[in-house]
Amino acid sequence: MRTVVYPGSFDPITNGHLDVVQRAAKMFDRVILAVARNEGKHPLFSLEERKRLALKAVSGLGNVAVETFEGLLVDYVIAHRACAVVRGLRAVSDFEFEFQLALMNRKLNENVETVFLMPKDSYSFLSSRLVKEVARLKGDVSPFVPPEVVEALRSRLSAPGRQD
Ligand code: ADP
Repeated sequence: MRTVVYPGSFDPITNGHLDVVQRAAKMFDRVILAVARNEGKHPLFSLEERKRLALKAVSGLGNVAVETFEGLLVDYVIAHRACAVVRGLRAVSDFEFEFQLALMNRKLNENVETVFLMPKDSYSFLSSRLVKEVARLKGDVSPFVPPEVVEALRSRLSAPGRQD
């Protein structure tokens, strides 16, 4: 049984994340999509909201579980008996940070491998940050995120008194 962990903020989950998780689900027996607390990043959605949106989005994939986590990723990976971490690489601009992260994780635990997957080229421009920006400016985000995320963004960003 080969399990991998796909960690991220998923604030919110996008079609780019889904592309990566679908590829991972074909390659491995089980994928744990691990939603990181990451309070330091001041997420738009709470940990539980991000988990709920991700759960809905992967409901068609039988071998994908969604969990939340905090703390050191390598400890989480070992505790779940996973063989690797999956990360998405969109463009060269992702490379430097992802490379550092992968090598730091290897330093922390040399048994934890990192596997990089490239999304379909049409998702290579997509990020949660840009999706939130477009949604704030009342642009149409439906081509970029699952329908429940469109709805969640709409209701979150139209809340009275909201500054962003
Ligand atoms: P983090 O805050 O850990 O970067 P994200 O939710 O932004 O979390 O991203 C999680 C992972 O998914 C990262 O490896 C990121 O590079 C990857 N990713 C994000 N958007 C895309 C996309 N459009 N296509 C492929 N991979 C992506």
